[in-house]
Amino acid sequence: MKTFDLEKFARPNVLAMKAYSSARDEYTGNEGIFLDANENPFPSAVNRYPDPYQRELKTELARIKKVREEQIIVGNGSDEVLDLIYRAFCTPGKDKVVTIKPSYGMYSVLAETNDVELVEVPLDADFNLDAAAVLEAAKDAKIVVLCSPNNPSGNLLNRNEVMKIVESFPGLVVIDEAYIDFSNGKSLLAELDAYENIFVSQTLSKAYGLAGIRVGLGFGSPKVIALLNKVKPPYNVNGLSQRFALARLNDMEKVTKEVLDILLERSRLLLEMKDHPLICKIYRTDANFILFKVDDANTMYDFFAENGVVVRNRSSQYNCENCLRVSVGTKTENDKFLEVLNEYNTTLKTK
Ligand code: PMP
Repeated sequence: MKTFDLEKFARPNVLAMKAYSSARDEYTGNEGIFLDANENPFPSAVNRYPDPYQRELKTELARIKKVREEQIIVGNGSDEVLDLIYRAFCTPGKDKVVTIKPSYGMYSVLAETNDVELVEVPLDADFNLDAAAVLEAAKDAKIVVLCSPNNPSGNLLNRNEVMKIVESFPGLVVIDEAYIDFSNGKSLLAELDAYENIFVSQTLSKAYGLAGIRVGLGFGSPKVIALLNKVKPPYNVNGLSQRFALARLNDMEKVTKEVLDILLERSRLLLEMKDHPLICKIYRTDANFILFKVDDANTMYDFFAENGVVVRNRSSQYNCENCLRVSVGTKTENDKFLEVLNEYNTTLKTK
């Protein structure tokens, strides 16, 4: 097993501190008259604080993801999980994080919020990862953040390249797998027991259809999870979300069916968009969205919006000039997207 030197990489003040102890930490039983947490005693579905460690949810997640409960942290979206990582490992004004570009915008927002230097290593023109370049940039960094499948490009990063970084970088390698359920590639979760420096973040916002209840997942070595637990607010995942998430995890057949439907629609969209006269390039996708290049993204974006279809203009991102990103919707929604695309073609021809 590759070990991770937590004492060297965690913030010294976080290492030294004691976690806040909530009322629900100090008495965990379900029976009794609870006069310990200053709650309103009149019973309702939500008058009591929720489980601060989301134990029931973790039991289900451990079963589904084939990990141990002590390897899991649950956050208010994976955005919160990523924020906890920055806050637990990076001293403001001193430490450095390395990531790739283009990638998910929150990595730089979190760096700025936490006053952490962020070095963005470019992917190549087809959005492939260069492990050697990342390792070179990460010589004095605390964390490397990789996104696979990557947003906004959509592609899964080459596993050998990712593993080169995991093998050689002594700090924490965070792999954001928000879109992994739409990919044929294997999650890095399978390597968690072999590499203490791997941290995988996932979410129930995408494939699991629960963006509205904000449940994000972090998986890492138990000592990394224990460190993050010290920093997280005690009741960071509310009771309604915990219950709702549990119900969804108990119906994995439905989740699997929806993912399959999305993948079928993705294939159909790719087929319809292939060789389309207005599309210059479609990038490989392992996610539930498609990035494509056109001649004039701003004008096409406006045309879509005027016709009731909202896509994302990613033109301002590195190497994404004139690129639009479309999420895979329902069959009806995708039909409308294709219809507007064809209408735009007709409009151009008659101009
Ligand atoms: N990671 C990536 C790559 C994302 O695209 C997103 C959402 N767009 C997130 C993380 C955050 O997801 P959530 O906070 O909903 O779990």
